[in-house]
Amino acid sequence: MDKKLPCLTDMNSGQLQELIESIGESGYRTRQLKQWIYRKMAKDFDEMTDLPQELRCRLKESFRLHSMQAVSEVSGYNDTTKVLFTVADNKTVESTLMHYPAAVGKERNTICVSTQVGCPIGCPFCATGQQGFERNLTPGEIIDQVLYFARLLQETGGGKVTNVVFMGMGEPLANYDALLAAIESLNSPDMFGLSARNLVISTSGLVPQMDRLSREELQVGLSISLHAADDALRNKLVPVNQKYPVRELMSACYSYFNMTGRRISFEYALFNGINDSPSHARSLAYLLKGFNCHVNLIPSNNTGNPGYFAPSQSTVTTFKEELERLKINVTLRQSRGQDINAGCGQLRSRFLSGKSSL
Ligand code: SAH
Ligand code: SF4
Repeated sequence: MDKKLPCLTDMNSGQLQELIESIGESGYRTRQLKQWIYRKMAKDFDEMTDLPQELRCRLKESFRLHSMQAVSEVSGYNDTTKVLFTVADNKTVESTLMHYPAAVGKERNTICVSTQVGCPIGCPFCATGQQGFERNLTPGEIIDQVLYFARLLQETGGGKVTNVVFMGMGEPLANYDALLAAIESLNSPDMFGLSARNLVISTSGLVPQMDRLSREELQVGLSISLHAADDALRNKLVPVNQKYPVRELMSACYSYFNMTGRRISFEYALFNGINDSPSHARSLAYLLKGFNCHVNLIPSNNTGNPGYFAPSQSTVTTFKEELERLKINVTLRQSRGQDINAGCGQLRSRFLSGKSSL
């Protein structure tokens, strides 16, 4: 694959159509091409057997079909598969497939995708945050993570991708345009065709972009990585809070809910001795009181960052019970895939430090 050629998954429906028309082909060929990319998950132009040989050759000379190459695939217990990809400039990002069997509600194949190489926000507990920021991913690089797993599921009889969550490496709303372009292609009925209701964006709380998103008329879910209810603590845990403090963040959450009707979830990772006391639970309950939302409690993933580790089981239970007593909707989430370092940015950290046997 010539990494300098433009990539077809970077193009939206209109751009693919213009491309095909510029070669002198009909709209019918555009539909076939989109089917090959987004429904049949073609790996190579040679698979597109119902396109004329000449058209395939012309496409192959001037374009890449995909932009990512998997360099390692690790499966763990709990139906979790994690993949490390290299992108055009040999940088690496990671994505995870989480299979939820029918026994725990409706059967789902959820893909957790990255939106940036590294992350500019720099949360001290997060493996990605510790790697610094390198660059934004393109729309095609975001989409290709989903297509990789869609193909894997297709090849192994594992069903279809049912959900995509933008919760991998990076801050999705800091790469707004590429994120929205990726969502458009994933959502479009004649491309990947996944309902916007099955997409969730996780953010550290970039208020202007949240406001912009609420006006897009998209039914995308929003998840806020809160982790602390007061500014003093949140300034340390999620440094972007110094720019967009808790009050402004909450006001953007209210607007998002009012504009989209989508109930927001708040992620609250529990760190031993830092944000896990009953009084922290009460501040959280006070902040969210009366707001139609959901809290996900996640005991810290052990990323190796000194000082940030999960509290004891009893501390976690007490925290949850305090929230329940104060009538907050709350679920305790196990962090899946810890056996394969499926926490945010952890596989890449191992790769960069040479500890992985990739
Ligand atoms: N940058 C975005 C999305 C990617 S991070 C965001 O922060 O929302 C995905 C989730 O993993 C976030 O909720 C993040 O706070 C959480 N996370 C990162 N490191 C963690 C750790 N060590 N323990 C628990 N959750 C962690
Ligand atoms: Fe970036 Fe999210 Fe990690 Fe914070 S938790 S450093 S925002 S990826």
